[in-house]
Amino acid sequence: MTVSRPLRLFNSLGRRVEDFTPASDGPDGTVRLYSCGPTVYSYAHIGNLRAYTFADTLRRALLWKGWQVEHVINITDVGHAVAEAELGEDKLEAAAARERRSVEEIAAMYTEAFFADLAALNILPAQHYPRATQYVEQMIAFAERLVERGFTYEIESGLYFDTSKDPTYGQLGLIDVSGQLEGARVEEVPGRRAKTDFALWRAEAPGQLRAMRWNSPWGWGAPGWHLECSVMSMLLLGEHFDIHTGGVDHRQLHHVNEIAQSEAYLGDGRPWVKFWLHNEFLQLGSAKISKSAGHILTVSELAKQGFHPSAYRLFLLGGHYRAQLEFTTGGLESAQTTLRRLVRRTSALGELPSVTTAGEARALAGDDAAAVAVIDQIDEAISADLNTPRVLALLQESLRDPALSDAGQRAVVAASSAVLGLTFEELDAGDQSGDNDDAVRQLVADREAARAARDWARADALRAELTELGIQVTDTAEGPTWARIN
Ligand code: AMP
Ligand code: ZN
Repeated sequence: MTVSRPLRLFNSLGRRVEDFTPASDGPDGTVRLYSCGPTVYSYAHIGNLRAYTFADTLRRALLWKGWQVEHVINITDVGHAVAEAELGEDKLEAAAARERRSVEEIAAMYTEAFFADLAALNILPAQHYPRATQYVEQMIAFAERLVERGFTYEIESGLYFDTSKDPTYGQLGLIDVSGQLEGARVEEVPGRRAKTDFALWRAEAPGQLRAMRWNSPWGWGAPGWHLECSVMSMLLLGEHFDIHTGGVDHRQLHHVNEIAQSEAYLGDGRPWVKFWLHNEFLQLGSAKISKSAGHILTVSELAKQGFHPSAYRLFLLGGHYRAQLEFTTGGLESAQTTLRRLVRRTSALGELPSVTTAGEARALAGDDAAAVAVIDQIDEAISADLNTPRVLALLQESLRDPALSDAGQRAVVAASSAVLGLTFEELDAGDQSGDNDDAVRQLVADREAARAARDWARADALRAELTELGIQVTDTAEGPTWARIN
């Protein structure tokens, strides 16, 4: 018998691992999940996609445990100012000026590209993708209530949230508010009372005409960035929902401010949302990958280099979401080799069934006790704050384990697919289109060079590497030829 164990998650609010239970354990058993979405002024870089792959892993774990999940990912198409500043141009407006397009065209283009990235990474589509520009009226109404409740003040640059009115301000980020002037940001805003105070409404400066502008009780302008997530999440998921996710950078600023304004708005007790989960950053070299840093590495760029998007997903899942992960081409290559090996091993098992829940996976394992035990270990791993590296290891071990029947192995593959979001069947199709010919040609040429130098050990090692990639090399009188064998 397997035990039904709780899903344990690291809650940034309190910084400890806790048993997850939905806030409202209603009869529908639905978990309501909100993930801060992209600012669509540019392509999503591979670091951004770590955030959505993580949210997808969380969603799959919830489904695995038998809950339904209602997921919202917002699209920030207004509000996010350049350089995280309260003043200054909107990122969308800056991109439109740079690319000589309208802000609508910019938003539409990069939103489409974002959806394509999600699909490529086999990320389950959210039920809602609200656009900030569609909710400005509701954001104004939200801010008006904060005014009525005495949480705001107005200065020339707009309407500000007065963080001194919130005794628990900054709790999530462990921000020391005793010296508010030491707040995280350094930007000087004339008239702002404390550096932690943030804009709810960014008023147009005299003579300025924003490309995106709305009228409000505080004059023409645009909403502050933090407002949209509070407003859209509550409208779509209810005033209190279950889990809020984002990258770890949001733990210090964006989510701190979302919490402050939402709790002030509701005035009905804390916390507004009980579970806050954050993924660590993907690092490229020592620099964090950032859209503003100029080097944007995208999933389609990786595909051009011969890397299947599933290999990138596997690379991400090979690390725990709360650990920083260093991106290297070598790391991605080895993930792709692992994936090819998994595809080859699983394709030998014939038609692969698909499951969503732990119960379905166990049923599939039938009376294969060894497989039931592995599925229980998968459950144990995913329940321990989403230990995906352990699930991957279990999958690899059990595909080599003679104690498992073919049916048992199929059940383990189905269980792993359910929680990892990797579909081992699909890579074959990807192999044909995902073009790594250049890499293969290089390996074949290196092997030829090794043979010419009579370095047989190296030539053999290169042949083995090619075999791992599913490439068969044949030496002919005219030189080597190669073909794909899977
Ligand atoms: P943005 O489009 O800048 O609002 O970011 C979208 C999401 O990506 C947010 O949840 C960020 O916290 C997250 N993010 C940004 N950079 C990285 C990175 N290098 N690694 C992981 N997550 C990131
Ligand atoms: Zn947000």
